[in-house]
Amino acid sequence: MSLALLSQSQLDDWVAQARSLTSKGHLPDYIPQLAQANPHTLAIQVQTVEGRCFVSGDTAQPLALMSVVKPFLLLFALEQWGAEAVFRHVGMQPSDQPFHSVAQLTLDQGFPRNPMINSGAIALTSFVSGDSGKTRCETFRQWLNTQAQTQLVVNQMMLHSVRSLTNETNRTIARLLQKATHLDQLETAIDTYNHICCLSGTLADLAHLGLLLAHSNAIAAQHQRTVNALMLTCGLYEVSGALAVRIGLPMKSGVSGALLAIVPRQGAIACYSPAIDQTGNSVAGLFLVETLVQALNLSVFS
Ligand code: GLN
Repeated sequence: MSLALLSQSQLDDWVAQARSLTSKGHLPDYIPQLAQANPHTLAIQVQTVEGRCFVSGDTAQPLALMSVVKPFLLLFALEQWGAEAVFRHVGMQPSDQPFHSVAQLTLDQGFPRNPMINSGAIALTSFVSGDSGKTRCETFRQWLNTQAQTQLVVNQMMLHSVRSLTNETNRTIARLLQKATHLDQLETAIDTYNHICCLSGTLADLAHLGLLLAHSNAIAAQHQRTVNALMLTCGLYEVSGALAVRIGLPMKSGVSGALLAIVPRQGAIACYSPAIDQTGNSVAGLFLVETLVQALNLSVFS
């Protein structure tokens, strides 16, 4: 079935239904700026590759990508350096541990399981040129904005908030990566990672990022396939397998409540709702994607 068969009134109904779910999740307390978000914000944008667009909810609200940036960092690294170089420093295996797990990385002797968790993304910051977090982020930001025709900017307040914490877990992860020679400069890596997690934009920007992975003539098809496969198997952390069965689309979540689903060759579904579940996935966002996928039979396995 097709994403273009969606009706606006159906979408509005689902958003109305999803509103009650916003009280089921929680706001992350370890990033003060995210803890101040309105947990009842809820928005969705469906964008097709032909240029049709459906929006519903509080779509004017800007959002930080947080971990939704990870597939695009992987895409950048693949495009610039090729798969052989990239997968020497990051794996392709799903992890059944939380996204910031140190135990997983220790078990794997410093080799990050996959690019969708913190360890993998921190390792991939070495593939961005520049001698500081700021310049590396700028290189990546400009590339991404050009490719996706987005207008992402670094949310400085969010960056300040992320840095205001000791960030000890990510630092421990970076130390383990460096010891195993999967990282160049430790401080630069952490700061690059913090910067790119704070890249922010509108829901429309999020949807347009998704189109890069749904269908793009500018990106190597093999790289799109690789990123989509890793999103399907790893993008929602330890519940990726269960959600591949229930939903069946490549997806990526961020602790900000951003959620992106790719409908290959058809388009992208971008959601934003800051209340997240225990694994770090937006509660109302997942409901909306699942409802839409079931109604329109959009699983890649259909
Ligand atoms: N910046 C966040 C962190 O490192 C991103 C995590 C996420 O979105 N899941 O903890």
